[in-house]
Amino acid sequence: MTGSAVIDHTQRDPWGIAVRQFDLAANLLHLDPNIRSVLASCQRELTVHFPLRLADGSVKVITGHRVQHNVSRGPGKGGIRYHPSVTIGEVKALAMWMTWKCAVVNIPYGGAKGGVVCDPKQMTQQQLETMTRRYTTEIMLLIGPERDIPAPDVGTNAQTMAWIMDTYSMHKGYTAPAVVTGKPIAIGGSEGRSEATARGCVYAIIEAAKHLGMDIAGSRVVVQGFGNAGSFSAKLLSEMGAIVVGLSDTGGGIANPKGMDPQKVEAYKRERDTVAGFPGAEAVTNRELLELECDILIPAAIENQIDATNAPRLRTKMIAEAANGPTSPEADRILHDRGIFMIPDILGNAGGVTVSYFEWVQDLQNLFWREATINARLKEVMVKSFNDVLALAQKHKVDMRTAAYMLAVRRVAEATLTRGIYP
Ligand code: NAD
Repeated sequence: MTGSAVIDHTQRDPWGIAVRQFDLAANLLHLDPNIRSVLASCQRELTVHFPLRLADGSVKVITGHRVQHNVSRGPGKGGIRYHPSVTIGEVKALAMWMTWKCAVVNIPYGGAKGGVVCDPKQMTQQQLETMTRRYTTEIMLLIGPERDIPAPDVGTNAQTMAWIMDTYSMHKGYTAPAVVTGKPIAIGGSEGRSEATARGCVYAIIEAAKHLGMDIAGSRVVVQGFGNAGSFSAKLLSEMGAIVVGLSDTGGGIANPKGMDPQKVEAYKRERDTVAGFPGAEAVTNRELLELECDILIPAAIENQIDATNAPRLRTKMIAEAANGPTSPEADRILHDRGIFMIPDILGNAGGVTVSYFEWVQDLQNLFWREATINARLKEVMVKSFNDVLALAQKHKVDMRTAAYMLAVRRVAEATLTRGIYP
């Protein structure tokens, strides 16, 4: 019996993709069918529906989820997403990816994720705060500093984490900073957390460039999604002399083969809420953006952006996945055959959870580190993890994603098997 074989999944369903990626590694590891069926399931899935009062006095019922995939290696860890297209399948996939991500970089967490079906762009700060506080109360049976520690994801930010931390603390009767990470520094957040995902991704890109014999200075960079992960990636690479030739967000894309200053694009976006229309740049769609000629392509938006239809047309040497799940398994095969080097999401964006781990450790110890210490420790983790995955890829002659999965699945399987079955 193989637990995952019986699951029916469509091509673009994120949970189906996550299970197929896991299956591939499980096959190569000759994973025992029993442990395989455990790891192909999520341990806990909570769905909540709760009322939110709108400005006109009417009531809207909001749906939210919190999922823990596997907590054998430590408490659950994973972001909370506010987006209109959140589904339980997406949250389950993101929770499973968190399990592997924490294992790839060898930090003592399991995988979890949360999501609320809403459009934060259409909501007032007051509505967002009320919704966040009620959602927190609804998922309190799962979260806690020793149990499951949320963080920001698409549509949420440090302020959202502050509301969650405050709501949890009010219920407990004491201040519990370690219940969330990615919160403001004033209430126990960590130096370096806001740019950690991008910084970690850039450390991995530097290692990949060394492996490929590429120079970062002068490399052409395209970034899809100019939010937290994407904007910091563009800025850090630009500071190293890379040329940012394409950028985008939900409002559309901009391209300029001569390069654009991401600081200026950020200032423009602050005024207009989108990068689209940036002076001097050509307008491109998000689809066209991915096919621009470049050396480093960074998907930093959402899932399902690179598939079998556009993978043959990408013109890049390397893809560094800052986003979770941007590439389908079919596209992976095409890109591997075309010799495009892939830094897979569970490695490429693990800098965020790594510094979240540092934040949690600092909160639990009430002892805070300097930014230089954080960045140095992050670099150590990313460089080691990248090279561990690369060595495995070379040893087994597999692509980087498969190698990252093999490393992660082996660690999680070992922990799960060592703990045994309760009762
Ligand atoms: P964010 O909300 O700050 O930014 C997302 C950006 O993507 C925005 O600019 C948005 O306009 C854009 N976007 C959304 N849908 C798009 C689409 N269809 N086409 C083009 N652009 C689109 O979110 P973020 O925190 O930067 O997260 C981005 C990705 O990185 C997500 O996949 C997330 O899971 C992943 N990630 C983030 C972190 C983190 O610490 N922030 C850590 C690990 C992984």
